Amino acid sequence: MRLSQILFSQGFGSRRLCAGLIHHGEVQVHGEVVDDPDADFDPQGLQFEVSGKTWPYYEKALILLHKPAGYECSQKPRHHPSVMSLLPAPLRERGVQPVGRLDEDTTGLLLLTDDGTLIHKLTSPKHHVPKVYEAHCKHPVDAGQIEQLLAGVELHEHELKVHREPELVKALAAEPMGSHGVRLTLAEGKYHQVKRMLAAVSNRVERLHRPQFGALVLPAEVPEGQWCWIDSPARILGT
Ligand code: URA
Repeated sequence: MRLSQILFSQGFGSRRLCAGLIHHGEVQVHGEVVDDPDADFDPQGLQFEVSGKTWPYYEKALILLHKPAGYECSQKPRHHPSVMSLLPAPLRERGVQPVGRLDEDTTGLLLLTDDGTLIHKLTSPKHHVPKVYEAHCKHPVDAGQIEQLLAGVELHEHELKVHREPELVKALAAEPMGSHGVRLTLAEGKYHQVKRMLAAVSNRVERLHRPQFGALVLPAEVPEGQWCWIDSPARILGT
C-alpha cells in the first residue's frame, strides 16, 4: 500500500495533505525519513512516525478513553465540550465515535471506534455485554435496595417525555460499596439507567464511575482525560 494511502486511511487529512507531509520529511518508517508518497509498505503491523509521534497502523481503530466529568459524548455537544476534543485530530478525522454514551457528569471507561459492526455488537441488547458502574449515592444503600436492584425495578418513561409501559430492569450483580455506594453490573445500556434504577429504589446518584466494559478494566495507568489503543475487541468480549 502506498505510504500516502496509509496516512490517508489513518485520518491524517486529505490525500494531498498526506502526500505533502511525506514530501516535507515529516514521516518516518522504521526510524528513517521516507519522502516518497508512493513508497510501498505492507500496512499490517506497520509503525510509522508523523511529526515525531509514533502511530501503529490499525484497519479499525479501537480506543479506550478515561472520560472525565464535564464532557458530553455527543458529536454535537450542547453545554460542554465533546469527548472527541480529547482525541488527536487523526483519530477524529477517521471518524471514531463513542460506543454508547456516558452522561456528562459520569467518569470512567469509554470506548471509541470507527468499526460500525463492533459498535453494534457492543451495544446491542442481544449480545448482553456487561458494564460495571460504581455509584455513590445521597442516602445509605441498604440491603433492601440491593435486593430490589437484583430482583428488578420499574423504569418509568415519563421523565423522558414519551409514553411507554414501565420496563422491569434487573442488575446482573449489585454489591454494596461502603455505606453510600453500590457496584452494579448491567447487561443493558438504557438512557440514564443507573440513575433511574437508584431513583426507583428512592435513592439518588451523586457520583457515577464506570470501571469496566465487558472484560476490559480501566487501566490504572490511564489517567482522566487520557486514552490508549486497544489491540483487539477480544479484550472486551473476553474471547
Ligand atoms: N447510567 C447512567 O445513569 N448514566 C451513565 O452515564 C451511564 C449509565
